[in-house]
Amino acid sequence: MALHGGAIIDPEKDYGSEIAHMRELVELARKQLAAGDAAIDIASDIVREMEMSGLYVAGRGASPNDEGWYELDAAVMDGATARGGAVAALQGFKSPVAVARAVMESSPHVLLVGRGAAGFAQRSGLEPVPDDGWYTHVGSDPSAARRENRPFGTVGCVVLDRSGRLAAATSTAGIFGKQAGRVGDSPILGAGTWADRFCAVSCTGHGEFFLRTAAAVQLAHRVHYAGQNLDEAAGAVLREVRTLGGSGGLIAIDAQGRIAMPFVSAGMKRAALSVDGSSSADVL
Ligand code: ASP
Repeated sequence: MALHGGAIIDPEKDYGSEIAHMRELVELARKQLAAGDAAIDIASDIVREMEMSGLYVAGRGASPNDEGWYELDAAVMDGATARGGAVAALQGFKSPVAVARAVMESSPHVLLVGRGAAGFAQRSGLEPVPDDGWYTHVGSDPSAARRENRPFGTVGCVVLDRSGRLAAATSTAGIFGKQAGRVGDSPILGAGTWADRFCAVSCTGHGEFFLRTAAAVQLAHRVHYAGQNLDEAAGAVLREVRTLGGSGGLIAIDAQGRIAMPFVSAGMKRAALSVDGSSSADVL
């Protein structure tokens, strides 16, 4: 499995807590994999843990949009069944990835947005945010946020389980100080999140460029139809993102458990557990 805590790194910041947290999550995934849990459950659980930690710009650590609202995006995709669920511009729920999972499991739809997504989350009994004080960024002045230009902190996870099933999950508050109503790549299957029988992918970075390149599914199709290996495919996708003027990174895993975690940004928070049992967690 692999996970990320977003591309773009502040060189002044100490990422000790994030690295320690990512290590814990790798160990959690190791246990779940050993127990034979399904890839879709592990990917959803890991992303939910990241949302709840407040350490990343997703879930509790979300940043507000330019009107001061917390509008969150998330997606899950199960490669074994080609089923997916997603929410965009969701307000008022602690775990957008849990809502995305509920869309996949208990609705006939794939993507719900805004008020309708919140109504669905409420009817599904998902945990609401008590008030905006729950968010660690509360009080951020959105215009200052835009000036600070610290956009990236999405979280994501890709998993290959013991039965050979692949899954991906991604969750974000999007770009720091984003325009109200703006939706990035994360909840769009094929752009920021994708899983099929060949690969699982979760992207992070300037979402508009990952949307314009259909980054996640492009990677999978390069592997499946063009016969590229995971590193080649991931590198080619990020080159396209960069050529258009974007930046960011991605995590990908294939059906043999090969992992790629490249980025074309100042850095990326990322961790991985390999098929041979070795693990890594770093902020590069
Ligand atoms: N890709 C996300 C978005 O554009 C942001 C991020 O990865 O930090 O919404």
